[in-house]
Amino acid sequence: MHEQVTPSLVLARYPHGEADLRVTLFTRELGKLTATAISGRKLTSKLSPHLGEGSVSAVRVIEQRGTRVADALTVKSGVRTLEECLLLDRVLPEHVHEPGIWDLATARTIDWVRVLSALGWDPRHGHCHRCQGDPAVFVVRSQDFLCADHASGITFGAGEVVSLQLHG
Ligand SMILES: [Zn+2]
Repeated sequence: MHEQVTPSLVLARYPHGEADLRVTLFTRELGKLTATAISGRKLTSKLSPHLGEGSVSAVRVIEQRGTRVADALTVKSGVRTLEECLLLDRVLPEHVHEPGIWDLATARTIDWVRVLSALGWDPRHGHCHRCQGDPAVFVVRSQDFLCADHASGITFGAGEVVSLQLHG
């Protein structure tokens, strides 16, 4: 990739150095990647307002001493909640173009069963790793399932588990 404009879901943003902004983007064309918005934390930054977490923006990404955001324009804000962004950031592999996941990740409501299935963790064929019961949650860190009984005794923080609604 030298330069590309791609629709991107902004998953995370954090300070980098004196004035730069680092963003984790799930792009339609290039999968998940991390890029730097030079001077993105300055008040005058034209990029920062268009790199809000949970927004879909048209982002121009260039390879120039690392991966950089050259331009960004919000297409739609509030597509995903912060917790959904955190979960997506944790489960999506970097630089892997997973067909279909873009549509799932930016759908009006996110269907986690289908997202996890597309990533190789199909809850419909999964079992609680402790009792082989039906999965109620997917534990992100250990990448396994727990049933409602075995999940109930554990306190999970934001972005640590995906709650599953299995129908049929
Ligand atoms: Zn169980």
